[in-house]
Amino acid sequence: MEEAEVFARLNQLQEDLSDRFALEDEIVKLPRDLKVKQELLDKINLEYIEEHTRSEAAKSDLKSLHIQYDDAVLARENSEKQMELISTQREFEALEKEIKDAAAKEQSLLKQLHVKEKQVNEYSERLTEKEQLMSLQKQEVDSEASKIEALLDEKRKQLEALEKKCLNYISGDIDEDLYNKFCNIVKNKKGKGIVPIHGLVCQGCHIVLPNQFVNEVREEKEIEFCPYCSRILFYEETEGAEEKFRKHVEDVDIEEGGLSDFVDSSEFDDLL
Ligand SMILES: [Zn+2]
Repeated sequence: MEEAEVFARLNQLQEDLSDRFALEDEIVKLPRDLKVKQELLDKINLEYIEEHTRSEAAKSDLKSLHIQYDDAVLARENSEKQMELISTQREFEALEKEIKDAAAKEQSLLKQLHVKEKQVNEYSERLTEKEQLMSLQKQEVDSEASKIEALLDEKRKQLEALEKKCLNYISGDIDEDLYNKFCNIVKNKKGKGIVPIHGLVCQGCHIVLPNQFVNEVREEKEIEFCPYCSRILFYEETEGAEEKFRKHVEDVDIEEGGLSDFVDSSEFDDLL
């Protein structure tokens, strides 16, 4: 395979990989909206349960007040009946006080009863509102869930096809090792895994490269990686760059110490 052909294939692979990564991202992000809606539903459910507990407690208080009130009424009526049986002034006064106290207790309980009844009704109204809200939110969650599930299904199929398509690039000069390396570079370098050199400058990281190294890239004997940004490099003629390249070669030729200590292999560690 000609190097130029390899570069062309890597460029195509780069496009397919970018589509693949975008799709993978979408698949991760899609259920997020649903999660927010589900969380809201959970919150409403929880509020409903708490409100229901308070409502039940109020109902139980109301029941107990009814019993106390009935007892108070009965006590007053009994005292009133005894009125007919008394004979002395002292007994009359004592009984009259008993009736008065009983009546006061009865009135107080009646007031408490009304307050509690009002509270029970308010709870009941709020619970009805919450039930409606819960049912609406649940409908929304269910419909969103089925929509997202269908969409995810579609996206997963697309992804599967793309993954197969990408793997098909492995052949000839693009062996599995280069393929995996390139996938990682494209992923880590925001979709740009192969870039040209203009003059002496890597168009990925815009750092000036040693001329001996640029010469090797121009010779296209093997795949070269930028020692700074790890991207695959190819040489691209540009207007003015050739002149710049020559000038640079003259400038750096003397101080150039060789490429071996220039290329830092640890650059690749995070990619492999
Ligand atoms: Zn670079």
